[in-house]
Amino acid sequence: MWLAETDQYWVPTHNMMEEVIGDFHLPERVTIYDNTLREGEQTPGVVFRTEEKVEIAMTMDDLGVGGIEIFAAVSEDDRAALREIQRRGLKNAKVYSLARCKKSDIDKAAECGVYGVTLEGPSNGWTAEKVLGLKSYDQVVKNFVDAVKYAHSLGLHTSGGGWDSGRATMAQLEYQYKTLADAGIDELHYGDTYGFTNPWTTAYIYRKMREWVGPDIDLATHFHNDFGLATANAMGAVIGGATVVHGTMNGLGERAGNASIDELAVDLELLLGVKTGIDFSKLYPASEKIAAIAKNPVNPNKPITGEREFKTGSGLVLDMWEKVGTTGRGRYACLPFVPEMIGRKGVEICIGKGVGASSVRKLCRDRGYEPNQDQVRAIMARIKEEAHMRKTLIPDYRVDAIVAEVCGAEQ
Ligand SMILES: [Zn+2]
Repeated sequence: MWLAETDQYWVPTHNMMEEVIGDFHLPERVTIYDNTLREGEQTPGVVFRTEEKVEIAMTMDDLGVGGIEIFAAVSEDDRAALREIQRRGLKNAKVYSLARCKKSDIDKAAECGVYGVTLEGPSNGWTAEKVLGLKSYDQVVKNFVDAVKYAHSLGLHTSGGGWDSGRATMAQLEYQYKTLADAGIDELHYGDTYGFTNPWTTAYIYRKMREWVGPDIDLATHFHNDFGLATANAMGAVIGGATVVHGTMNGLGERAGNASIDELAVDLELLLGVKTGIDFSKLYPASEKIAAIAKNPVNPNKPITGEREFKTGSGLVLDMWEKVGTTGRGRYACLPFVPEMIGRKGVEICIGKGVGASSVRKLCRDRGYEPNQDQVRAIMARIKEEAHMRKTLIPDYRVDAIVAEVCGAEQ
């Protein structure tokens, strides 16, 4: 059951008002499908060694993703990683291989013992003609159908829908999805390869997809983040009835990256009440581990797992914290959720130009002083002046010195 407030978070009930969600097609839960090993490794400059691929797969499985994708046909490295992952065994995730609509790709996937293939190819006629030299859109769809039938003959689960769906016409999408559904495909997706659909459009398109193919086929999302909308678009798609969401850890991927798994999980559960199977308490450790392996630090102001999510230097916020600290809501009244929810420890108070009287009093008390009004004003002025000079935060040793200089003289 969805709750607006628990001992870990407090979010608006507005998101779940009947007037808002009455015509949503929300599933009870979605499966998170992890693209870190495939799209994530397409991030320029990111290289995963075989043993690191295995480590990432085990980490993501432990986090609770339902699917993990590798590209078996691309290299012996990937096939070796796949074999090792299968040998160790995953407790939650099924393993998929990306495959072009070619028998050789599907064969390589099957040889590695994967559960299924995610079939790729263009979703629009222009790209099909210019990139693959196919004569017609019909040929694109026929290639998909042949691939689905061949993969099924090898006992593989099939997922597909192609890339760059945003440049297809609605008629092309309808034809492609209906034809693939008739061919027995298990899962369909709309590939927003350049991240330029918007969340209202994705809600509409997934509603149409559901109408076209009926209730029995899983609908998956695949969103890139070029316009900063990957997570929002996935939420739009889930509102339209999607049941599987693709993403990468830390939003790794080409250009602006892909939908980020930490954001997908927290947003879907807290803001839409849809279960994801993700163990939130492992999100931050997993994010740190994969950032280190990828040598790709998380942007400090990235939502959820960014370093600054639980840092504050604002006097106003710190004053609020002081006031609500003794109430039952003290831990999160000035935050969307507590850091422990995602496996982080505590809130970091930063001292800089935003410092206020309340935080100065606390700084003094923490250092064994009880300052008077004049001393509080003097410390505030010194900190603000030094912050302007440094153009950044004040290090602890300087705070110690300023407090001691102002308060120490009289004690
Ligand atoms: Zn992609």
